[in-house]
Amino acid sequence: MSEEKLSFQAEVSKLLSIVAHSLYSDKEIFLRELISNASDACDKLRYEALTNEDLLAGDGEFKIKLTVDKEAGTISIADNGIGMNREDLINNLGTIARSGTGAFVDALTGDSKKDMALIGQFGVGFYSSFMVSDKVEVVTKRAGDDQAWKWISDGQGEFTVSEAEKDSRGMTATLFLNDESKEYLEFHRIQQVVRTYSDHIAIPILMDRETEEGEGDEKKKVITEETLNTASALWTRSKSDINEDQYKEFYHHVGHVFDDPWLTLHNTVEGVIEYTNLLFIPTSRPMDIFHPDRKQNVKLYVKRVFITDNCDELLPPYLRFVRGVVDAQDLPLNISREMLQNNPVLSKIKLGLVKRILGELKKKADKKPEEYATFWEAFGAVIKEGVYEDFTNRDALLDICRFKSTNGDDLVSLEDYMGRMKEGQEAIYYITGEDVSALRNSPQLEGFAAKGIEVLLLSDSVDEFWVSAIGIHKEKPFKSVTKGGADLDKIKSEEKEADDKKEDESTDTEALDRLIAAMKVALGEDVKDVRKSNRLTGSAVCLVADENDMDMHLQRMLAQHGQSEAAASKRILEINDGHAVIEKLKSMAEKDGTSNTFVDASKLLFDQACIVEGEKIQDPAAFARRLSSVMASGLPL
Ligand code: ADP
Repeated sequence: MSEEKLSFQAEVSKLLSIVAHSLYSDKEIFLRELISNASDACDKLRYEALTNEDLLAGDGEFKIKLTVDKEAGTISIADNGIGMNREDLINNLGTIARSGTGAFVDALTGDSKKDMALIGQFGVGFYSSFMVSDKVEVVTKRAGDDQAWKWISDGQGEFTVSEAEKDSRGMTATLFLNDESKEYLEFHRIQQVVRTYSDHIAIPILMDRETEEGEGDEKKKVITEETLNTASALWTRSKSDINEDQYKEFYHHVGHVFDDPWLTLHNTVEGVIEYTNLLFIPTSRPMDIFHPDRKQNVKLYVKRVFITDNCDELLPPYLRFVRGVVDAQDLPLNISREMLQNNPVLSKIKLGLVKRILGELKKKADKKPEEYATFWEAFGAVIKEGVYEDFTNRDALLDICRFKSTNGDDLVSLEDYMGRMKEGQEAIYYITGEDVSALRNSPQLEGFAAKGIEVLLLSDSVDEFWVSAIGIHKEKPFKSVTKGGADLDKIKSEEKEADDKKEDESTDTEALDRLIAAMKVALGEDVKDVRKSNRLTGSAVCLVADENDMDMHLQRMLAQHGQSEAAASKRILEINDGHAVIEKLKSMAEKDGTSNTFVDASKLLFDQACIVEGEKIQDPAAFARRLSSVMASGLPL
């Protein structure tokens, strides 16, 4: 079959043009990426060979070989792993397969400096070879196949695929190094890069070293093959033999993320069920953390043999930010991926891992609150999914949840909150919305602030769900301050006089009742009710949801997601009986509660309450007209 020319998927071309023109300073990482792929390919074959030994064709010693050709200016990376057939080649080296790389392309800004920083953050896999080469040639044969294939590209939008000759299975990538990258022809330079980034790779990375022996005419070149890495699975080594950099490089390899690990958990569990875990929690939130597939990111090994990187039975979805490996001793080596479902050994391992992770998080939360705050910022929203999904661990999860609150800028725990509850306070108060600083200014909080009652400020979308799912915590119900009555009267103020003063204020109930009746008529279908507020102190009005209706923020969220019927339920307008505007309206209502001015003023107040809620007002033109006319009569000449 003759050579076939194909185009890269558009996203790949975009990625390649950035990679090729990048001034990214750590170009050496190309080697890490190619070695990482080679090692994964060996892992995959080792797994497939468990059920089909013929695939090994007698060669079960996996290795990666690096070869340089100084004259040709090439470095090649060869493995005896799974290899690729024609389709694999076209799919894997022509499109973007991994969601992380997809997220990278989505994150590209066009600003070369920023995009460059992203390369470091994501690692761009195989495509990083174009940072150092003008041309890349891949020759590969899939284990068990007879036909080999050759893939060639200069990284400029197209690649060719053709039949090729190759004796052994696996893949060899040959990089034609560009003028700036000739340093990767030198043994020492390569050795240094491998030691830095790939020491943890469990299979040997070999390279020929050329030395001279003898004197004068006797001088001759001697070639010895050296192993550049330690070549034992990192997690099987003792903790004291592993330094932080080695852990970090392993984390990059296994996790496909390139920040520093925030937490490293390396343990061996012995007893009824034996396993080793080397798990990492990233420092920053990966781009695809909220991808709907909520895919797990921990690799399962059985007695050092890679089984799968897609094992949903190892950790619950709310711990999907955890990276690393679990190596189990008590599973059969020939376990198929299907058999992993509902496997009792795995369930026990999962229980143990969740307990350990939550325990470590709790320790950090208690002892290092500042460090914990970075974790919480990145993954708090994910952990909170667990509060409503994992009933067994609900208390442990609530224990490590942290919240912003009206108590200050620090994160607070539910325990802190409950310890500060006021005499007579029956509920854990919270408010939900998109943005904490906007929430802090919500009028609905005024009465709570006046009484010194702390309110939790919840701004993750998931908050609406876990709060309503748990309902009650340690006998105290969660209560939204934007919903139902504020039952503030039962709670004692800091200063008793404040309560007494309030009593004095509420005098003229008749005038207030008249005003409320007139406003209800003026606002008609816009509101469910108008009532006197005991949660406002500074603002004139605010909106709240009726006790049994859906909270307003949740309604808005659902409406944004196209579930607009959810937006139908109406709100209650609460008015502040102590406010000057309400006083004036009272006397207007007494004279003529149906006058245009009164109706306009009522509608203005309603629109204002909507704006404060961050909602659209129904008729902006009418709002502007009313506001101008009120200003015209109110402004001094
Ligand atoms: P990633 O490794 O992150 O998935 P790459 O772009 O580096 O992304 O590689 C794309 C795919 O190409 C891999 O997922 C794998 O299927 C295939 N591949 C890369 N290198 C090899 C190799 N040495 N042997 C077999 N397949 C490989």
